[in-house]
Amino acid sequence: MSETIFTKIVNKEIPAEILYEDDLALAFSDINPQAPIHFLVIPKKPIPTINDIELEDKSLVGHLYWVAALIAKQKGVAESGYRAVMNCNEQGGQTVYHIHLHVLAGKSLGWPPYQEKLKAE
Ligand code: AMP
Repeated sequence: MSETIFTKIVNKEIPAEILYEDDLALAFSDINPQAPIHFLVIPKKPIPTINDIELEDKSLVGHLYWVAALIAKQKGVAESGYRAVMNCNEQGGQTVYHIHLHVLAGKSLGWPPYQEKLKAE
């Protein structure tokens, strides 16, 4: 699979507003924020989709949530609340094929994301 824009951010080939970095993960502000606070947490390892997560990646994926919570605490939204969500493939809304947690906060977030009324059978 060809390199995505997120691997370029990991390699510092293109700029991003980096919020956190360690050996395993990187967090940076989303370029097109969908909430007052919107950042992404990615593994440095380029895993294309949730479907490609291997058993050996389980602690890595858990680490992404730990980073999300750390930044949420630093930004003062841990108690008020936030959403941490990962889209998968086309119908899930994924556009960049390098897994990433979206972390959205700073206002009450709508739910559910699927608004169309389900037809009665
Ligand atoms: P998704 O549609 O779930 O794959 O999310 C991809 C996200 O990456 C979108 O919210 C984009 O706004 C964001 N994005 C794309 N390019 C960049 C970039 N260069 N820097 C920061 N965020 C980006």
